[in-house]
Amino acid sequence: MSGFLPPAITADTAPYWEAARRHELRLQRCGGCRAFRFYPGPVCPRCGEEAAEWERVSGGGEVYSYVIVHRATHPVFAADVPYVVALVEISGTGGIRIPSRLVGVTPDEVRIGMAVDVDFEDVTPDCTVPVFRLARDRA
Ligand SMILES: [Zn+2]
Repeated sequence: MSGFLPPAITADTAPYWEAARRHELRLQRCGGCRAFRFYPGPVCPRCGEEAAEWERVSGGGEVYSYVIVHRATHPVFAADVPYVVALVEISGTGGIRIPSRLVGVTPDEVRIGMAVDVDFEDVTPDCTVPVFRLARDRA
């Protein structure tokens, strides 16, 4: 398991983390214009609608961009370097991009456009973190 810092869970983000504990990737979707959004928030940035639901998405996507972390941003990640943080564009969401750890891939292997799938790391009994791994590695 890699280093872990507990997420700052708010009223807006709690459904995301609750879904992750069930190993589901859910994104907030506007009840007005039906646009997905990420980061979660109380109001649709497109149309101003407050009503929203949390819709389960496939979790498949592709690497839109990435960085290779060589210097840990916090001591808990020191043993993990170098590691890959990717901006993953989620299929079927109209271009929603989520920053996440890319696991099971070495820094020199990662490429923009790689197909990836969500996976879930149960880091504590109370917290599960969505990560992404190469689609070819899925069982
Ligand atoms: Zn909207």
